[in-house]
Amino acid sequence: MFSKILIANRGEIACRVMRTAKSMGIRTVAVYSEADCDAMHVKMADEAVHIGPPAVADSYLRIDKIVEACKLTGAQAVHPGYGFLSENPDFVETLNAAGIAFIGPTADAIRAMGLKDAAKALMVEAGVPVVPGFHGTEQDPDYLAERAAEIGYPVLIKARAGGGGKGMRRVDDPADFKEALEGAQREGLASFGDASCLIEKYLVTPRHIEIQVFGDSHGNVVHLFERDCSLQRRHQKVIEEAPAPGVDDSMRAAMGASAVKAAQAIGYQGAGTVEFIADVSEGLSSDKFYFMEMNTRLQVEHPVTEAITGQDLVAWQLQVAAGGKLPMQQSELKINGWAFEARLYAEDVPAGFLPATGTLEHLSLPDLNARVDTGVAQGDVISSHYDPMIAKVIATGNSRLEALNALAVALADSRIAGATTNLQFLQALCAHDVFRKGGMDTGLIDRELDSLIKEPVADIAAKSVAALVQLNRLSTGDASSPWSSCRNYRHWGDATQRALISYKGENVSATVVENAQGLSVTIGRKDCPVKVLSGRATSQKSGEAALQFAADRCDVAWALHGNAMTVFVRGEIHEFGVIDPLAVGSGDDAGGDTVLSPMPGLVRVVSAIAGQSVNTGDALLVLEAMKMEHTLRAPRDGVIAEVLTSEGEQVEAGSVMIALEPEDD
Ligand code: ADP
Repeated sequence: MFSKILIANRGEIACRVMRTAKSMGIRTVAVYSEADCDAMHVKMADEAVHIGPPAVADSYLRIDKIVEACKLTGAQAVHPGYGFLSENPDFVETLNAAGIAFIGPTADAIRAMGLKDAAKALMVEAGVPVVPGFHGTEQDPDYLAERAAEIGYPVLIKARAGGGGKGMRRVDDPADFKEALEGAQREGLASFGDASCLIEKYLVTPRHIEIQVFGDSHGNVVHLFERDCSLQRRHQKVIEEAPAPGVDDSMRAAMGASAVKAAQAIGYQGAGTVEFIADVSEGLSSDKFYFMEMNTRLQVEHPVTEAITGQDLVAWQLQVAAGGKLPMQQSELKINGWAFEARLYAEDVPAGFLPATGTLEHLSLPDLNARVDTGVAQGDVISSHYDPMIAKVIATGNSRLEALNALAVALADSRIAGATTNLQFLQALCAHDVFRKGGMDTGLIDRELDSLIKEPVADIAAKSVAALVQLNRLSTGDASSPWSSCRNYRHWGDATQRALISYKGENVSATVVENAQGLSVTIGRKDCPVKVLSGRATSQKSGEAALQFAADRCDVAWALHGNAMTVFVRGEIHEFGVIDPLAVGSGDDAGGDTVLSPMPGLVRVVSAIAGQSVNTGDALLVLEAMKMEHTLRAPRDGVIAEVLTSEGEQVEAGSVMIALEPEDD
């Protein structure tokens, strides 16, 4: 076994790999960019090597720097995690040439599966079912449009080098084909340096079911059953589970056998995932699943497989990479229970799942009854340089519902302030009836989006909590001390205080009266009696309290950050503004006359022209951020007054990009 390995990655996956390495007595080396000097993965490693500036192209993607770091530290092997260099055959070859082992498959195996078109051709040869479509080399747009017509709409255009949902376009109407093709090609080129595309029949009611496979250098290949990753947004996974609901033993055996065949066809070694798409328009069936692609690395969602098999997949990877045999044979592997994983992201769901940035002013993740894989700590910054994942929350149970309920509880126990997250959306998903019954397909989130992103409206209890936080009435410190619970004690009469906060842009004034029964908060004409059972500060700016309202007892938490306050109450998250009473009355928001950049990014396409009339929803420009393209649209009908950006410009969040002529009513 290796005595020292380098992890060529960051964030939660770097930390997760180190955890296993440490438990096996293997020393760990982290690499880090300037932006990650204080990151968790750096602190966790035995040694850390600085490899460059924040941009990934200058740091985490620099093969030369990583090889240099191995030489400097004497690391014998490199674990690539996922993303970055994990599926780069040149990286594998460079490492091997330097006498360093790659904890993953061979360069040839990666190459064979690296391009979706070539992989499909290989699978057809190996007798693995593939989605009907065109995966040839001819790329003339007219020719591809003809193929699409032959396949029959709707079709899916995929950048052949694509991954992570990038470079994919669904097309329903032949008239939209060319524009979609251009978009997929552009994204393919920008993200993967390859504009070539393939065309597939778009399955309208599909489920994404993938099989975890493992091979060793002795010719053994096993599968570790399936995961269902059908809950997706923008073709990216949101909540994954294992096993897959409704998959019976015969379907599991058929899919497992196909996946093993796929792995054997390329002499696969290490951890891999064979992704299938199952057509469930007429229910699950063992003859209606098709190979989509093979990911030649450890997947983000591997913990659910670990949970149901009781295996540590990173330990398996290390054993295989060191030349050992697979720890178990197929017949020894069993499924035990059910597991879910939710991906907690800094993202603005209602704004179209836009990646969000911010400082994690408050971060408390569940530590009981759930596994949490994270690479960030309170105070860390989610920047636009890297994937905005905050954590993976993994919950298990004996049955599917038990595990799903455990996930819901774990999410309700997760509290994050300082960055917009998808936490509430994940909670809404856990409660969604179709998902609870296991009846989802990959289109579920899109179809149900409106109900899933419905933000809860703060009721008087939530507003009261905010008002009490503002008045510093909840961090009672030692609850048993009369001085902390009766700080506003008056000899006679009630003590009255006023709090001013804002909610969704509107000022909220609250009057708090303390009397023998406890506190009474009055907002408008409503009263909310509340008793503080206990409360404490968890940091200078955050705290938690147990409160007794008239109807229920409830645990609440809060975090102050900048001019805002996040309040967590009954699983809901509410943002309030903290108003400086001296500043009341100033400031106003811009109207709907401008299109602002929702995040930092690169302007790819500007289609808006000054003087042009536009209708609500018309595409005005395409912004590329985090390697994804986002189309910015007209906020209302009107005339474009000015275009304030140009193609190729790097813009900051909030920059005015387009101005509309003012409305004259
Ligand atoms: P990537 O490599 O970018 O992850 P995949 O080929 O794995 O791309 O596809 C990602 C997701 O896109 C799938 O999980 C599925 O939801 C959807 N998808 C892919 N191919 C099809 C198809 N032919 N029909 C319908 N949906 C598809």
